Amino acid sequence: MTKFDYELFAIRYATRDARRGAHFIGGDPHDGPMPMDYFVWVAKGGGRTFVIDTGFNAEVSEKRKRTFLRCPVEALAALGIDANAVEDVILTHLHYDHVGNFDRFPKARFHLQERELAYATGRYMHYPRLSHSFEVEDVCGIVRLNYAGRVMFYNGDAELAPGLTVHAVGGHSAGLQFVRVKTRRGFVVLASDVTHFYENMASSRPFTTALHIGEMLEGFDRLLELAPDEGHIVPGHDPLVMKLYPAPALNSKVLRCAWTYRHPALRRADYSSHH
Ligand SMILES: [Zn+2]
Repeated sequence: MTKFDYELFAIRYATRDARRGAHFIGGDPHDGPMPMDYFVWVAKGGGRTFVIDTGFNAEVSEKRKRTFLRCPVEALAALGIDANAVEDVILTHLHYDHVGNFDRFPKARFHLQERELAYATGRYMHYPRLSHSFEVEDVCGIVRLNYAGRVMFYNGDAELAPGLTVHAVGGHSAGLQFVRVKTRRGFVVLASDVTHFYENMASSRPFTTALHIGEMLEGFDRLLELAPDEGHIVPGHDPLVMKLYPAPALNSKVLRCAWTYRHPALRRADYSSHH
């Protein structure tokens, strides 16, 4: 392990039942159950800790009828990370499930694409279809943090630390960015909502929450461009992440095998045979 290798953790903090048809633009011909998980992530390396997204809290979970499994901030504590001391939070975008709890990080700088805050405070929020994905109190909170000098804005790709970069994509939300970190097994691309599930990318069918479908399709390409292969991409909401990455060891063989199969039923069968 060299100085700038990172350890990357996914913390699953909530879940919900859903149908396949809800996750693909145009629906799905084989509608069936397809639950969705909610994560925050942590990249630790080079003596620094980057928290990537901050989840939502119990109150918002209840309002939106999600199943709240654990408070993301308390889960960080279980990993030995004190939110009060965290200095860097990367926000992939400002949707409610990625930016709640921002107020629990009193010392942090927040790394965000400038276009995302412009979008979340701009004219399109007139439409419930688009504003529905945001909590207005979160957005106002980020505006206040900016006035306090605590938001670092990017326009496009940027290196935040050696071996850790952010990459602007847009599409799902105007200023969506993903994160690439160097790990012991090479670069891992944390996609966040550039692809909610492995299957969105594998089948070139974007998720239903969409601002710009062309940018979403290009986003899939960018993930593949910046990852050594598909097995190094971590989607934003896929329950498979918890199965493919058992703590703490990474098993790229299983991930690759799982990826080979395009039919979800086969994929599940293949996965279980490796367990
Ligand atoms: Zn999301």
